[in-house]
Amino acid sequence: MKKTIIILSLLAITTAATYLLLQNEPAKINSPDTNSASPASAQPEKLAEDSGGRNPAAPQDRKGEGQWQAPLGRPKDRITKKNFGIYITPRNSPVKPEHFNGYHTGADFEIFPEELNADIPVRAVCSGKLKLKKHAAGYGGVVVEQCVLDNQPVTIIYGHLKLSSVAARPEDDIKIGETLGILGAAYSPETDGERKHLHLGFHRGEAIDIKGYVPSSSALSQWLDPCLYACGDFNE
Ligand SMILES: [Zn+2]
Repeated sequence: MKKTIIILSLLAITTAATYLLLQNEPAKINSPDTNSASPASAQPEKLAEDSGGRNPAAPQDRKGEGQWQAPLGRPKDRITKKNFGIYITPRNSPVKPEHFNGYHTGADFEIFPEELNADIPVRAVCSGKLKLKKHAAGYGGVVVEQCVLDNQPVTIIYGHLKLSSVAARPEDDIKIGETLGILGAAYSPETDGERKHLHLGFHRGEAIDIKGYVPSSSALSQWLDPCLYACGDFNE
């Protein structure tokens, strides 16, 4: 009898310990872009719903011709890793190692192999005003421009730029097609350690928000797919 009680007690202790361990298990990975994306509240199963129907290559999706242009040449060939709305985790990410977690708020424009060591100019996708240029965690250099889209204010986030190459200052007028700066060097402080690429985000409204990832699809609704506007063929 005494032995049974001891065994049962041991069993209870083990079960409780396992339970506690499991409770603490999900290691949260902070997204430097965001500081707020919480993987715990995100729902990966919504991925299909969120990324579906947003094929960046679909020409019928293009709007505002003339008022918008691509930031880099051959835009459609570049969006190969992270399109708008894709749900990223370190496990499923096309980028390794992955430091981020959540719904991608922008579209990533990759470089071509021959561009790795070249200066790659990033063009303004619209005419507007420069609102911010700074170093930020997750980006390295980041520039924000305010434009107007369908009569509504929108802010454009250009991430991973070499900040010292950006001549414009806050409140300067920017013309569509103007070179804002060049892409930051791969895996350097200019990109905050990320590969060489452009993160382009469209955030609704005037408020500046440079999050690269958000934890929920409802938060993602504050963002627009840049490819609906800025993935058209590029005219030199
Ligand atoms: Zn990105």
